[in-house]
Amino acid sequence: MTEFSFELLATDGAARRGRVHTAHGAIDTPAFMPVGTAGTVKAMMPASVAATGAQIVLGNTYHLMLRPGAERVARLGGLHKFMNWPGPILTDSGGFQVMSLAKLRKMDADGVTFQSHHDGSKHRLTPESSMEIQRLLDADITMAFDECTPFPATHGQAEESMRLSMRWARRSKEAFVARDGYGLFGIVQGGVYPDLRAESAKALLEIGFEGYAVGGLAVGEGQDAMFSTLDVTTPLLPGDKPRYLMGVGRPSDIIGAVGRGIDMFDCVMPTRSGRTAQAFTRRGTVNLRNARHQDDPRPLEEDCPCPACRDHSRAYLHHLIRSEEILGPMLLTWHNIQAYQTLMAGLRSAIAEGRFTRFAAEAAALEEMGDIPPP
Ligand SMILES: [Zn+2]
Repeated sequence: MTEFSFELLATDGAARRGRVHTAHGAIDTPAFMPVGTAGTVKAMMPASVAATGAQIVLGNTYHLMLRPGAERVARLGGLHKFMNWPGPILTDSGGFQVMSLAKLRKMDADGVTFQSHHDGSKHRLTPESSMEIQRLLDADITMAFDECTPFPATHGQAEESMRLSMRWARRSKEAFVARDGYGLFGIVQGGVYPDLRAESAKALLEIGFEGYAVGGLAVGEGQDAMFSTLDVTTPLLPGDKPRYLMGVGRPSDIIGAVGRGIDMFDCVMPTRSGRTAQAFTRRGTVNLRNARHQDDPRPLEEDCPCPACRDHSRAYLHHLIRSEEILGPMLLTWHNIQAYQTLMAGLRSAIAEGRFTRFAAEAAALEEMGDIPPP
């Protein structure tokens, strides 16, 4: 059996090149995890997701507990088998989405009671039930149940919320069923307040987790505040455990966070943007709905191995979007996931070869140039 572990292969400044070992395979870091909300990375076949180089996907506890239900997924052999994704899976704890999606939610010291956004049925999540649901789903990486501190929050609000999350982190650890190759991650909270981040990191280290996430960022605080929060947080996390920045982000956010010692990322941006005609390229985002592409025979991005770029022109992608053809979102989602995985592969090579700073500067310069002009 594989033991859940983190192998640090190289460092370049604070940036780390590593490998996480799980029951369902290894994850090369820095890694980007495509979001497979309801047991599917929207508009992508599992094999296509893997073809981009993605080694792990994320599943959402909130969505899956409501539909089709964690017990049903367990009876059908777990989430890997159910969605035909044989690689590692990380599930979130459900807490964040209860707060953002559920109707009539009611928080108490023990957990949260809420109504499903599908049918109004009543449900409850506690640290214990979140651990049980994530075990039933068979997640390789389970996230501790926490409260995502809203932004903006006063110091007092962020403190109260963080301390609740730390009590829930301890209960999550006590309820988590240890299994070979499976890990539980704690989540550092504390808003944009360095003293609270430090208190949170210390509390989590005392409990002890297989990995540490930084939560409560990318909620509207801006990139500068996010980076300065990472500057005071990642040095407090143990060097021999993976670090995961939740819900981040744009390519420049990822590059900046990797430079501050983060190993893992997830974000809906590449998939969601793929469904709204937005493409991520090394030269920034491109809106394929724009008429400037209608006569453009060139690929969306030179050298991109994805089928949108390999087999099609910008003019054709534009036509698909304008005609509301389902192939448009499929191709753009594939491209976006590929663009993120190409970025991560570039970061991993750069760190291994000791040229992270140059890589980051070149990426920023390319993005600054903007999209190629129309022919
Ligand atoms: Zn492409």
